[in-house]
Amino acid sequence: MQHILEAIQADASGEDIAALPIPDSYRAAFVRRDEQNMFEDRESFEKDPRESIRVAEVPTPELAPDEVYIAVMASSINFNTVWTSIFEPLPTFGFLDRLGRESSWGARHALDYHVIGSDASGVVLKAGSAVRNWNPGDRVAVHCNYVDDQDPAAHEDSMLASNQRIWGFESNFGGLADLSIVKANQLMPKPAHLTWEESSVNALCGSTSYRMLVGDNAARMKQGDSVLIWGASGGLGSYACQLVQNGGGTPIGVVSSPEKVDLLHQLGVEHVIDRSEEDYQFWTDEHTQDEREWRRLGKRVRGFIGDDPNIVFEHPGRSTMGASVFVTKRGGKIVTCAATTGYMIEYDNRHLWMRLKQIVSSHFANYAEAWEMNRLIDQGRIQPTLSKTFSLVDVGEAAYQVHHNQHEGKLGVLCLAPEAGLGISNPEKREAIGENKITLFQRHAESLEKTVGG
Ligand code: NAP
Repeated sequence: MQHILEAIQADASGEDIAALPIPDSYRAAFVRRDEQNMFEDRESFEKDPRESIRVAEVPTPELAPDEVYIAVMASSINFNTVWTSIFEPLPTFGFLDRLGRESSWGARHALDYHVIGSDASGVVLKAGSAVRNWNPGDRVAVHCNYVDDQDPAAHEDSMLASNQRIWGFESNFGGLADLSIVKANQLMPKPAHLTWEESSVNALCGSTSYRMLVGDNAARMKQGDSVLIWGASGGLGSYACQLVQNGGGTPIGVVSSPEKVDLLHQLGVEHVIDRSEEDYQFWTDEHTQDEREWRRLGKRVRGFIGDDPNIVFEHPGRSTMGASVFVTKRGGKIVTCAATTGYMIEYDNRHLWMRLKQIVSSHFANYAEAWEMNRLIDQGRIQPTLSKTFSLVDVGEAAYQVHHNQHEGKLGVLCLAPEAGLGISNPEKREAIGENKITLFQRHAESLEKTVGG
């Protein structure tokens, strides 16, 4: 890949990039089918991505007509990287095998290794024969909605297509690698004012939060709405806070440390609850929830805004859903896209129906929603929440940190980019938006490291 990197760094023309040979193999982070039972006897928290994620050369797959090869300059860790690497709730090889049965192009994916990663920024190297809007040399950000247009439902909303998948989780050849193949309808222009790593962390979490809150398909937040955001400094939550602020609403963030409270205050989130300090005990045992604790949370929120939240932004799942349904304002919405702490959910249905609340489901984003989110980032209205950058060989360590909730915002990964800080092609725009705003999460993580380091 060295010749490709040199061409990108020399700002080679599209024609020159198109003429570069695609290598027969490339460096990638993957898990192995023959190791999918390696953690069988361990508790979830003891399953260690550093043991299961390998980084080595893999063969380059053939390119389908609707796909492009991209040189991946940077990628990011998502929680699905954690799920794949700990083989929970299921090993992802079943997804690959199902895709393999779908078509002859799909069959490429059913392999004994799974190249992971569902975010990327990079450069188009070669476009398949059916690709119209993208050319070699284009600098791109990649979203992870992997879908084709041969299901009628996809024409209403591609997230409804029966063959909708998350690239790099339910498909192979993901973004944590030096090279990837993606469908042309996953491509978006890379924001010119951002580095490779800053451009690579936004699409999955940012677009998910956009659909949950802003797009036509989920909670549809209005100006003036208040939104209670669980995990407000995490991957999803850090974009949710900014979307609420940008849309004229009031975020109330929940986090689990004073450092995270401080970070959110710096982001401009005035109302922040430290759930560790409050020590909420929503569950008294594994079968019983305590309504008094839900009430205590509700009182805390009212103490801030004088009312109940119009929307609750849900993803922890079992541990918080009872409380979320309880504290939502009469007529309000609980929007959920995940269940990190358990997917068998319990809430008191009386609080839902008697107060006319709605639970709204959401999952990633369609191309239009991802594009809109990318546009907000490109306009500098929403900032990347990259806090730390790892090298590709350290993907296991980065995934471990996310698994153990040791991170803030997003963790980036340098793939072909040899160092952090490269890829900015519009420094004037960066200056106008403000270095401090763009790098808030990075600076906060650095200051924490200095404090810890003594
Ligand atoms: P993340 O960066 O780890 O952030 C999650 C946050 O949740 C953490 O920062 C933590 O914040 C909070 N949290 C963890 N355990 C909690 C608990 N018991 N009670 C309350 N809060 C808790 O992960 P993420 O990227 O935001 O993803 C979150 C979940 O959404 C994952 O399960 C992921 O797979 C899923 N997801 C789904 C989609 C989709 O399209 N459906 C897209 C993205 C992510 P504090 O400790 O500071 O409170």
